Amino acid sequence: MTEHARVAIIGSGPAAHTAAIYLSRAELQPVLYEGMLAGGTAAGGQLTTTTDVENYPGFPQGISGPDLMDSMRAQSERFGTKIITETITKLDLKSRPFKMWREYDDNEGDAPAHTADAVIIATGANARRLSLKGEETYWQNGISACAVCDGAVPIFRNKHLVVIGGGDSAAEEAMFLTKYGSKVTVLVRKEFLRASKAMQKRLLANPKVEVKFNHEALEVLGENKPRGLMTNLRIKNNKTGEEETLDANGLFYAVGHDPATSLVKGQLDLDEDGYVLTQPGTSYTSIPGVFAAGDVQDKRYRQAITSAGSGCIAALEAEKYLADAEDDKPDQIEKNSEVKKGDLNGAENVPEYRSNPLL
Ligand SMILES: Cc1cc2nc3c(=O)[nH]c(=O)nc-3n(C[C@H](O)[C@H](O)[C@H](O)COP(=O)(O)OP(=O)(O)OC[C@H]3O[C@@H](n4cnc5c(N)ncnc54)[C@H](O)[C@@H]3O)c2cc1C
Repeated sequence: MTEHARVAIIGSGPAAHTAAIYLSRAELQPVLYEGMLAGGTAAGGQLTTTTDVENYPGFPQGISGPDLMDSMRAQSERFGTKIITETITKLDLKSRPFKMWREYDDNEGDAPAHTADAVIIATGANARRLSLKGEETYWQNGISACAVCDGAVPIFRNKHLVVIGGGDSAAEEAMFLTKYGSKVTVLVRKEFLRASKAMQKRLLANPKVEVKFNHEALEVLGENKPRGLMTNLRIKNNKTGEEETLDANGLFYAVGHDPATSLVKGQLDLDEDGYVLTQPGTSYTSIPGVFAAGDVQDKRYRQAITSAGSGCIAALEAEKYLADAEDDKPDQIEKNSEVKKGDLNGAENVPEYRSNPLL
């Protein structure tokens, strides 16, 4: 039987739970679909795949990623959020109320599991991996997909670190890591960097950085014991075929993220990389009543705290949207929710990356 909620949240990371905390405290009884290994990520989101989180305010000693997410989930529930451990596999945003179908429940003709007057998309993103030999063994024991998150941990201090990637993110991550590592090697598959000219100049001028063009990683090697750390990286020159083994204690992937937007593709405006476009400084998408928060709409910062912040924004905007709808102010709703193409935070409007990724 189809249930109705005033507002539904899809996702279970910091953005989704922050939105849920605000909406449930506002007595809107949100329903939150946390997913069942949606996109391969456990309920709780990306932080469930990490150990210590040291940059989330309020935890001076750090907190484990899963513990932080368990606490957020408990806080959502405390105020009355209805959490459903299922994945939404189909979403109809073309008619109102919005309709959503669960996994195993989306055959032709099946009634939607839920309808909602407003929806918050907080489905997150996944950092791309390279499936290198040894990757599973040394993931989070030397290998990371986030220099800003992990660069400062002791295992990387004064060690040789390697970054893979040739774009702006790779250049930024490498520059950031020079604060901690003794040397940073950047492996670039092609014979040129895709990073902006200014970024390239800074990277190549940094005495701690070596850029190896036409190089690819082959295998991560390390200590052969439980939770052993990586110690070496086997790499190959893809022009000459020559292989070498580097001493390396850290490996940072900067090869992009995949936003989880398959549900809304063809319904919401997305940018050229598949991120949901939102009006700058807001969670408004191209459909009034549909809001987006967290990494699914943020390709610049991708942090737990920025996701939580955008979850708060989405909740407050959804609350306002529902209040306007209740007061029967359709003009106001359209005005608040209107997204003009030129206002969206797409590539054309994203300012240059800041030089310091911590900012
Ligand atoms: C290894 C690692 C370490 C990190 N360390 C830090 C750190 O120390 N500090 C920091 O600030 N940030 C860190 N980050 C980044 C941080 O985890 C993300 O910025 C943040 O989790 C994004 O939150 P989010 O709410 O957008 O969604 P996510 O955390 O991406 O979660 C989205 C959730 O929604 C679920 N979902 C997706 N589709 C559906 C669907 N159709 N139906 C139901 N559920 C769905 C997914 O399964 C997932 O569980 C790290 C990231 C990684 C990968």
